[in-house]
Formats: sequence, C-alpha cells, structure tokens
Amino acid sequence: MAGKSKRKCSFCGRTDGEVALLISGLDGFICNECAEQASSIAKEFLQSTQKKNLSGEGKKLPKPKEIKDFLDQYVIGQDDAKRFLAVSVYNHYKRLAQDDSADEVEIEKSNIIMVGSTGTGKTLLARTIAKLLDVPFTIVDATVLTEAGYVGEDIESILTRLLQVADYNVAEAEKGIVFIDEIDKIARKSDNPSITRDVSGEGVQQGLLKLLEGSVVNVPPQGGRKHPDQKMIPVNTKNILFICGGAFDGIEKKIAQRLNTHVVGYNAVSNTSKIDKDNMMQYIAPQDLKSFGLIPEIIGRLPVLTYLNPLDRAALRSILTEPKNSIIKQYVKLFEMDGVTLTFQPEVYEYIVDKAVEYKLGARGLRSIVETIMMDVMFELPSSPDEDAYEVTLDYAKRQLGKANLSRLQSV
Ligand code: ADP
Repeated sequence: MAGKSKRKCSFCGRTDGEVALLISGLDGFICNECAEQASSIAKEFLQSTQKKNLSGEGKKLPKPKEIKDFLDQYVIGQDDAKRFLAVSVYNHYKRLAQDDSADEVEIEKSNIIMVGSTGTGKTLLARTIAKLLDVPFTIVDATVLTEAGYVGEDIESILTRLLQVADYNVAEAEKGIVFIDEIDKIARKSDNPSITRDVSGEGVQQGLLKLLEGSVVNVPPQGGRKHPDQKMIPVNTKNILFICGGAFDGIEKKIAQRLNTHVVGYNAVSNTSKIDKDNMMQYIAPQDLKSFGLIPEIIGRLPVLTYLNPLDRAALRSILTEPKNSIIKQYVKLFEMDGVTLTFQPEVYEYIVDKAVEYKLGARGLRSIVETIMMDVMFELPSSPDEDAYEVTLDYAKRQLGKANLSRLQSV
C-alpha cells in the first residue's frame, strides 16, 4: 500500500487519494477527470475535422464506383438503383464543391425517385448511403404530410429533422440529403369518389414542389404544425438533394397499358416480344408516375427515375447471410457477446427462405422468422453459463416455427 500513494496522474499531478479513479497506462497514469477532459477535447477535434470534410477540405470525394462498392456490401442486387444513386450522390458533392460565383455553368441538382415494391431495399439503400456521407441526412415519411389547415404535419417539417441532425446549423443543413419515403401516398386520387377535398393529394404535392425546386422556406424548429408563437428558421433548399421512394402499388398495370398502347407504334413488335412480364417495373417511365397521380411539375423536379427489382428466392437467401450486417451475422454477434458460438445447419437457411416465400413475407419477414426461431434459446441460454456453443438444427427450427403462427406476420 505504501507504493500506491506515490501514484499520481501524469496530467494534473494529483495523487491516488485526491481523485476518484486513477487509470494506469504504460508509463504513467490518468485520473478520471483528466480522462473526461481528454475525451471532450478529442470529440471536439473530431467534430471539427468532420466539418472540414463537409466543406470539401480534407477527405477525398468517393467516386461513383466506390459508392456502389460500398452499397454492395450491405444491399443485395438492385444494381440499377445503386448506379443511379451513386452517380447522383457523386454529382451532389461536385455541385457543393462548385464555386458558383466564378462559374457560368451552374450544375443543377438531380433529385431522385426510386420505385419498387415494399421491402425491396429502398430505405436500406438510403440508410447505407447515409453511412458513407458526411453531409446531414434524414429520412422522412410522406404519409404524415398534409395541406396547411388540416391535421398532420406541414410540408416544411420535412426539413426540421434535417436541421436537427445538422445541430441547427443552417448552412450545413442546406447541403444535406433528404430521403422522402412513401412518396406514392401523396398521389392524386383522381378516381376518389369522395366529394371532400383530397387532403393528402395534389395540395401536398404543390407544397412539396416548392421544396424540390429550391426556395427559401420557413421551417418550424420543433416540427409538427406551425403555430403563431413559434420562431421559424429560414432554410434555402436550393442545394438540398431529395431522394424519394415509393412502392407505387399497381403501377405495373399502368406500365403494361402504356407498353401495350405502343404496340401499334412503328417498332413495337420487336419491343413487346422482349418484354419481361414478371418484372414490369424495369420499364418504368415518367408518364407512368403521372398516370399514377403525381403532378407533372413534381415529376419534372425528380429527373432521376430508377426502380428496384422484386426479391426472388435466391435474393432472399443471400440477404439472410451475405450482407455485412446480415440478419444471421447479427444473431451470431449477439451470442458472441454472451461467449457462445452460434452456428446453423445449412438446411435451416433454406427452410427460413422457404417459409418467407410460402407466406409471402419478403425480406422483412426473414427477420421475424429468425426471431421466432431464436426466441426461446435467447431466453434460456444466458442463464446457462457452461454453454459455449449452440447449433440451430433443422428440427429445432421446424419445432419453433410450428409453435408460432406465421400467418400473423403476413401484414408486416
Ligand atoms: P423498402 O424501403 O423498399 O420498403 P427496406 O429497405 O425497408 O424496404 O427493406 C426492409 C428490410 O429488408 C431491410 O431492413 C433489410 O433487412 C431487408 N432488405 C430488403 N431488401 C434488401 C436487399 N436488396 N438487400 C439486403 N437486405 C434487404
């Protein structure tokens, strides 16, 4: 104990007795207070370098191919959408780097719209892009938007989240990227028999247009509805990149109709014979969005149109194990944290995919199925400290799913 009193913090010089905790290093010690201070200095430094990156200094711009390679690690398939996204995001950076006062050629932004059934990876793509970026990024849901005067959120609240992730730094937010999910839900419902006004329709699109075009809008700092006492923050949307996503249920019919009407066209026969009827989405064109109920002005402001393929059995199988943070890898990690090596009989993977296909659960369903299989063992195992390995067998998987009612997952 006599030696212990000589130990002192190499930073502030205080001894063992004067501080709550002394952490030893190779050649010295640091007390808890100095450690905390050092941590906040480091954080501040890292934040300031991040900001430098944001303004183009320092870090080099990821090239479209690098962006796609990065997306490939997390998202299975969807090559076209990845390429479109990679190029648009790359161009977005280039626009930000452009010194507009000196240049006559002003690069216009290319907002993006991604069309594809639910659960095919639209949000995942957007989230993965966000990981790579050092501009503020946020995902908002178009379904909460309504016209001014109706219950719901004002259009401007889309930008509230962006301001929040940018720590209310308006200049940073003005370079950000916003992913607007479920854009199809604000389509005009022209055959709506209701005589009441279409709250979530054309008016909302008109409002959104203002944002997409690039203008100064007043954003409620706390989101929600505007109210008279709230101080608004003006934000210029000129440099904000908007990526929209939507399932556009039933749009395949509109695409087919359009392609069929073109049968009478001059080179139609050769074209229609090649049409892949199982995946009509790949032929999507701006006029299909119009037939679906988006106003032409909005479509004009979303010049990059891309699609996502439906996920087939092989894609589902890959999704289960291949992405960098695949569902299975996540469970292996969870068990590893308890000191248990988790393995699966290979047939279990096939079985999980079979069930996802059988119950039409898609990629989202994979997680629910694995969760159902693993629930009991995740409950029991942490209380059995002697176990250091666990194999999920096909029998076990079947038994667990047999107990559960999979059809209840169908509405997911
Ligand atoms: P969407 O936005 O198209 O409705 P999501 O991106 O939210 O669908 O996908 C739901 C979940 O399904 C994701 O979190 C992911 O786990 C999985 N998933 C969907 N598509 C893919 C894909 N192409 N690659 C890897 N995982 C996918």
